[in-house]
Amino acid sequence: MAATSRGTTPVPPESRPRLTVLSGPSGVGKSTVVAHMRKEHPEVWLSVSATTRKPRPGEQHGVHYFFVTDEEMDKLIANGELLEWAEFAGNRYGTPRAAVLERLEAGEPVLLEIDLQGARQVRGSMPEAQLVFLAPPSWDELVRRLTGRGTEPPEVIERRLAAARVELAAEPEFDRTLVNTSVEDVARELLALTNVV
Ligand code: ADP
Ligand code: 5GP
Repeated sequence: MAATSRGTTPVPPESRPRLTVLSGPSGVGKSTVVAHMRKEHPEVWLSVSATTRKPRPGEQHGVHYFFVTDEEMDKLIANGELLEWAEFAGNRYGTPRAAVLERLEAGEPVLLEIDLQGARQVRGSMPEAQLVFLAPPSWDELVRRLTGRGTEPPEVIERRLAAARVELAAEPEFDRTLVNTSVEDVARELLALTNVV
């Protein structure tokens, strides 16, 4: 096991779960790690969430998120179209159910990048899911990354850091922790955990 990983003993590939949930505090590097992994392994299927958040520069509808209005999100929830959903730092986010179930039924590995509340919901409804926590090397480094990204105003950063304290305390709920010191190392470990052959 590489130095970035903490967790239980290795699981043989044939018995590994096919649904992997990646969570961790905002700014820890989840998107960066997943993008790095998928650049080299585009076959890893990542669920595209719906969100009421406004797009950041460069984010595309249908690629990074489905950007929806509050009313559209209300309908997705009311119609049971989301596998899980949560409010995070003032916006709502949810995982479209149908696309995930299709992939799982086809026997393909599925990756979700969602917050702690969503991870808990998935654990409740799909106990076979594998929950992976991405941790920062230190609190100060997390603050540096979140601030350095330059995509949120100070009050939103404060809200996200408040959520981060709660998320970091929940690390023991996860099956495995990867510490994001090196994007390359973590991407490699995550690839192995997603069981893509
Ligand atoms: P998240 O998706 O978890 O909110 P991002 O992927 O947007 O986080 O990363 C937040 C910032 O941290 C970005 O500016 C990114 O370039 C940087 N970052 C990510 N991983 C690392 C790393 N291992 N070392 C240094 N900076 C990193
Ligand atoms: P961001 O606004 O930085 O893209 O995402 C904020 C938080 O929402 C992150 O922790 C991200 O993982 C989480 N998130 C993204 N999509 C979903 C989703 O579909 N469901 C849940 N519960 N959280 C999500």
